[in-house]
Amino acid sequence: HQLRQHQKAASKSASDSLSNIENASQKGVGAIKEGIEGCIGDTPLIKIKSLSDATGCEILAKAEFLNGAGNSPKDRVALSIIKLAEEKGLLVPNSGDTIYEGTVGSTGISLAAICRARGYKAHICMPNDMAIEKSDLLLKLGAEVERVKPAPIVDQNQFVNLARTRAREHTEGKEKHGRGLFADQFENEANWHAHFTGTGPEIYEQTGGSVDAFVSGAGTGGTISGVALFLKSKLPDVKIVLADPQGSGLFNKVKYGVMFDPKEREGTRRRHQVDTIVEGIGINRVTHNFEAGRELIDDAIRVTDQQATSMARWLVEHDGIFVGSSSAVNCVAATKLAKQLGPGHRIVTLLCDSGARHLSKFWANKDVGGAEDDVSLDKIVAS
Ligand code: PMP
Repeated sequence: HQLRQHQKAASKSASDSLSNIENASQKGVGAIKEGIEGCIGDTPLIKIKSLSDATGCEILAKAEFLNGAGNSPKDRVALSIIKLAEEKGLLVPNSGDTIYEGTVGSTGISLAAICRARGYKAHICMPNDMAIEKSDLLLKLGAEVERVKPAPIVDQNQFVNLARTRAREHTEGKEKHGRGLFADQFENEANWHAHFTGTGPEIYEQTGGSVDAFVSGAGTGGTISGVALFLKSKLPDVKIVLADPQGSGLFNKVKYGVMFDPKEREGTRRRHQVDTIVEGIGINRVTHNFEAGRELIDDAIRVTDQQATSMARWLVEHDGIFVGSSSAVNCVAATKLAKQLGPGHRIVTLLCDSGARHLSKFWANKDVGGAEDDVSLDKIVAS
């Protein structure tokens, strides 16, 4: 009798879950995706409740860590760079051609995943002070990884220059198989184009065309330029604001037209060596991708490591959102901007990647672990 009861219960629960599945497809949770590439783009726009409640503005964040290949906005860029190279005949799918890139991690991870799906090899050069999780992940994805000492861009062993050299060595015949391509995310304009055709239009649609400001950090500059170029074409009054970590020269470039500010002494140091635990944003040169949208950037907000670490902790405590360092910088800048603009504005920013990729560095920092539980948002953005 008991067995029959169990069978009845099991069959009811099976039919319940079947009808749930039917309901789900009727409610249109989305079509079946074509592999990981089908899961790139169309990311959710999340209202960050705690920041919105505290500022009286609507602070919305595009959940780019939900891109389904390498889990960052770089999925869009990697796919765009690869497709453009294929169109030009520089790469042939499933040929075993090799893609070379210099990256602090995210772009490499996106490239490595898409390379696997499209039948390429990935060779990634990165600075050796980036969180170890990123190079571990790259190795698991089958990429060849060269970790090099952080160096200024003029140095031939700097990670981007090294990737360029490796690609040249390959095409000059020092490698045996297939073609070699330098992806060149900093200068390759397929980068900002991916945000111009993807991230920007998605934000416009998801907000019904109502956005007061867009806030973003810049590494290559592809995100801020691509989104700025699209949004300003539709909404000439939208404010585009750069979120810049300590040590980066871009803040001065936007504010005063020069990288180096003798008063602040920013923009002069080797940022990745000594100046910040933030990864992926902040740079001391103007790349093609930053230049593409530079004139559309209205203002810049400087964010300290202390502010970023406190914000990361705040987002977990209040919203259950666990992010990496560049996302935390974006949220500090969005909150500062909300305070400047006053209540009633809608501000859009990006959550770039998950905190899981930053456990050994950003999240291991004592300021993250040691922040007071009841620290106020005012105190965070003022610190
Ligand atoms: N966040 C993370 C985690 C990144 O790796 C990067 C790119 N290096 C960015 C933000 C900045 O994006 P972009 O290169 O488009 O300026």
